[in-house]
Amino acid sequence: MFCRCEYCMKAMQAGGRNLRTRSQALVNDDLLIDFPADSLQHLQQNNLDFSAVTTLIVTHSHMDHFIPFDLHLRNTDYYAHNLTADNLELFGNERVLEIMNDERKMYPDEPVPEGLSVRLAKAYQPFRSGKYNIIPLRANHAPEENALNYVVSDGEKTLLYLHDTGLPFEETYDFLRDRKIRADLVSYDCTFVTIPSGGGHLGLDSCPAVRERLEEIGVSDSNTVSVVNHFSHNGKYIYDELAPVAEKLGFLTSYDGMTVSF
Ligand SMILES: [Zn+2]
Ligand SMILES: [Zn+2]
Ligand SMILES: [Zn+2]
Repeated sequence: MFCRCEYCMKAMQAGGRNLRTRSQALVNDDLLIDFPADSLQHLQQNNLDFSAVTTLIVTHSHMDHFIPFDLHLRNTDYYAHNLTADNLELFGNERVLEIMNDERKMYPDEPVPEGLSVRLAKAYQPFRSGKYNIIPLRANHAPEENALNYVVSDGEKTLLYLHDTGLPFEETYDFLRDRKIRADLVSYDCTFVTIPSGGGHLGLDSCPAVRERLEEIGVSDSNTVSVVNHFSHNGKYIYDELAPVAEKLGFLTSYDGMTVSF
């Protein structure tokens, strides 16, 4: 928001898919991954119905993934009328739950969101919500908290959501192999884009290496859709520059409002 770097200026000038908000994903119409400050914008620009969402899984507490304030807007006394679904289950790590508690204390007069239940998610402990089988994985990210990646399956198709993470831990590969997880779509962290991947995130140098490992253990194959997502301006490429490079590597480049059927 406050950046005037060369890449942000270029993106602003180019417009369209080069304008990026913070990452969030909607699976079908009822499972949401992460809840950043741009959630309202995502809803309005894509004509979505967040009141139909029954499951919200949060990867970690970093503010580009989780800002709890707008959850109050699910209160039916003042803010939300004609909800499509009565209940919303939120799953997150200890830090996410703590932030929700702190936020309630900060705004004690704000009404409680309707039908919201909050549950702790732990790495490698699968749970069910709605029609989904969900498996949290330990992300190689934010070691000060238990950051999570997720496997989401609706019984027909399976999504592997690798945000945020650096190179996955060996235990993660072992778990996916032992559980015989087959992903129809993998969304890869690509924060570093053109610069060599350091800790905590992936880039164009490491996404193909992770995909290769996933192929070796049978998680993905030539039918799996590979998407790169979550880009930093520090990685230098705007969408128009990144998309052709990623395409050559076999990855779709995400943009705001992108829909992928798989
Ligand atoms: Zn910038
Ligand atoms: Zn993060
Ligand atoms: Zn992030």
